[in-house]
Amino acid sequence: MTRPRDLPYGESGLELRRHKRRRWCREAGCPRGSSTEQIPQLPAGARITMGLLDAAGRGRRDAASTVIQAARDLRLSWPTAMDTFRAVAREVTEARSTRL
Ligand SMILES: [Zn+2]
Repeated sequence: MTRPRDLPYGESGLELRRHKRRRWCREAGCPRGSSTEQIPQLPAGARITMGLLDAAGRGRRDAASTVIQAARDLRLSWPTAMDTFRAVAREVTEARSTRL
């Protein structure tokens, strides 16, 4: 069971709990031994949902607010909020460069 961070909801917040299935490998020489299921919204090892990261990045691009404001609004660290903005900004600049 994991408790990834998701978009804020209401004043008291919302706690997301995810129960992941673990699959065991029956091959004797398997280097991994087991793996847990993944979903696109929450890649392996992620502690923050893609929905929350997308909202942080889009908020900076579309609402033109600051990185520190996004971090405060969505209760993210500044480096995480900055990373989401960089990812969204890269999408925009790459889309523009292919149109030229
Ligand atoms: Zn295996």
